[in-house]
Amino acid sequence: MRVPMIAGNWKMNTTIGEAAELVNEMRQGLDAIDNVDKVICPPFVSLAAVRGLIEGSSIKLGAQNMYFEEKGAYTGEISPAMIADLCEFVIIGHSERRQYFNETGDIVNQKVQAALKVGLKPILCVGEKLDENEAGRTKEVVTEQLRSSLAGIDYLGGLIIAYEPVWAIGTGRAATGRQANDTIGLIRHNISELYDEKIAQDLHILYGGSVTADNATEFMQQPEIDGALVGGASLKAGQFLSIVRQTSEIR
Ligand code: PEP
Repeated sequence: MRVPMIAGNWKMNTTIGEAAELVNEMRQGLDAIDNVDKVICPPFVSLAAVRGLIEGSSIKLGAQNMYFEEKGAYTGEISPAMIADLCEFVIIGHSERRQYFNETGDIVNQKVQAALKVGLKPILCVGEKLDENEAGRTKEVVTEQLRSSLAGIDYLGGLIIAYEPVWAIGTGRAATGRQANDTIGLIRHNISELYDEKIAQDLHILYGGSVTADNATEFMQQPEIDGALVGGASLKAGQFLSIVRQTSEIR
């Protein structure tokens, strides 16, 4: 049995004070739900403060990105060890990183390797763009992204995959439960080919893309979907709590 996970990606939102307020609003409610893994991913600058606020609770912490080099003259970058000091998880290869910061499959691969090396659990994001989806290329694109991201990696550690169709992120146009379930099934199949069936069956694969309190149930009812990576709705305590609650009731 895979324990479901709901992870909130706060993106470039919240000052330290606002992050603290948001955590304080949701901490008690989230902590009361124990059959779902709850992860929040605030901006780098709030990680230390948020970590203090969730100490002793069942809420887990993730970062939104990291650099793959260990240390050195990389002004403005954050190393894997710096993240591992504070967090259990790190989002890698989010489509906004690929789109606005030119992260290629090779960079994503190096980041996954570097995260695993320091014991972080990468939340690896893959997903097709709208034109690729409309051209019927979803399967091909997702398979290629997955294989390039995991090239040369023998041990997946606590890696999690998030299937996030780019056309569904922040658009209010979510995939259907069935679409997401089919592609996540394909990802699991790829993992069984690259590794083995046991690893594939144990792997957590999330759906992400305009998940809200109104459509969460549709995704959580799907057998292949192990939870959600939530952007916009994770910035509203009531919405995020409702998504976690619905997940807890279904599983
Ligand atoms: C995301 O940022 O990973 C995401 C899925 O965003 P949203 O839920 O806002 O579509």
